Amino acid sequence: MSYLVLFDTDRIQEYVFATQKLRAIRGGSFLLECLNRETTNLIETHVGQEIYVGGGAGAARFADYQKAFDFCNALEARYRHETIIAGITAWLEPFQKAEPFWQWVERAEMHLRRRKEEKDRSIPLVNNPYAKVCELCGRLPAEGDPVENKFICMACRRQWNEGAEYKHSLIYKAIEDKSPSTPITWPESLEDIGQASDPEGYIGLIYSDGNRMGQRRKTELKQCNSTEVETKYRQFSECVDKATRWAMVDAVIELMGDPVANKIYPVQFFITGGDDMLAAVPAHQAVPIALRFGELFEHYYESGRSGADSRDCFQGMGQGASVALGVALAKQNYPLHSLINTARELQKSAKQMAWKEREQDVSTIDFLATSSSLLQPLQDQRAEELEYDNLRLTQRPYTIKEANILVELIRGLKRSGFPRNKVNDLWRPLYRGRLAACLDFLVLLSRLSDQGGTPPQQALVKVAEEFALSPFPWKLTADFNYITPLLDLAELYDFINL
Ligand SMILES: [Zn+2]
Repeated sequence: MSYLVLFDTDRIQEYVFATQKLRAIRGGSFLLECLNRETTNLIETHVGQEIYVGGGAGAARFADYQKAFDFCNALEARYRHETIIAGITAWLEPFQKAEPFWQWVERAEMHLRRRKEEKDRSIPLVNNPYAKVCELCGRLPAEGDPVENKFICMACRRQWNEGAEYKHSLIYKAIEDKSPSTPITWPESLEDIGQASDPEGYIGLIYSDGNRMGQRRKTELKQCNSTEVETKYRQFSECVDKATRWAMVDAVIELMGDPVANKIYPVQFFITGGDDMLAAVPAHQAVPIALRFGELFEHYYESGRSGADSRDCFQGMGQGASVALGVALAKQNYPLHSLINTARELQKSAKQMAWKEREQDVSTIDFLATSSSLLQPLQDQRAEELEYDNLRLTQRPYTIKEANILVELIRGLKRSGFPRNKVNDLWRPLYRGRLAACLDFLVLLSRLSDQGGTPPQQALVKVAEEFALSPFPWKLTADFNYITPLLDLAELYDFINL
């Protein structure tokens, strides 16, 4: 008899972002990574066979029921002990006679998901008048620290202490290993990241998730014969994890340049496991990095990554895959928790588009430059603010290809010397009705200079050409609405540099 054990970390984001302190956030993220890596030993001591461990999850096969059962308990106990509030869920699934491996995995997964949902999600809150509440998370009972005179809970203390160690995390190490002779200074706060932004004081949060990864894995496993199926499972999980991490590392270095000694390298990674990725960068680099990340992910997933250092190389799956990206741009002091929610909403919106275009399997992106919290779901807010009389004042979400065009058009306008004080004229007329907007844009075009190499007038006409806007600034959709990318362009304008 054979037993398959699947496991997956619970509430990663809730745990990692229980606090606003950057050090504790990355400490929590690193602690989860360490626990995940330790799991390999735990499988060995329980005489199991590792199939895959990585990205906060994993799978193993056991011959002995009791050993498998003990492993599940030991694993869950270890997580609870180390993180206090985050846990891991394991599921033990016996093999059924004559079933293919993928069916076994699928059944185990369904049970694992169900068990995760059933788990008690309540976090103990302090309601005892004699207990102090933790200063970092504001939720758990705190212990006093006689040295620093601080009241911090056990969960946050672990996160805080690990914060000093986070550099050993795989993604930071990957960047450090690329510049071995440069001592890298990592940011201590979101202000450190905002300072490197142009305009100063803004950060961008990038959230990415792979599209239909479960479905892809199933297809891969179904095509295998029984001898190679576990290898394929491992290869798939490893490829997704590495393609995500390396696409981000390479996109960041390509766009931010190599680290410089004694200068802060303004990037923080919060979640990098499996196909999930969440990072903060200076605002003006967020959309370009996200777009490059999407391109590189597609490439690495299909063809793998090669290089001089064999540790950085991996095999691709030989087929396409795509990601959905959300990018939220805001002031550096914007509450991180709300910003993450916004980025997640944007990512969901991008994913919906990817789902509609699934025949082509395209990567998509949605973005928002925000000064206030989303008070209602993104779609509702957009319907209220950006839609009237069959007009839709946004083309978001975009495919990565279209978004690259949008970014290049902004750069074209900037290079042409398009006057900064005319940027508002790119979106204000859109609220005056369809025909009035057409007239306003004709006036705007006629007033722009047509002198020089690539004059502003020509740069704006190029926008109309690239997005097939006719009559400028509108494009008629198949369902008889008029849409335009001009407000999107104006919203991003300040966050794209030459
Ligand atoms: Zn706490």
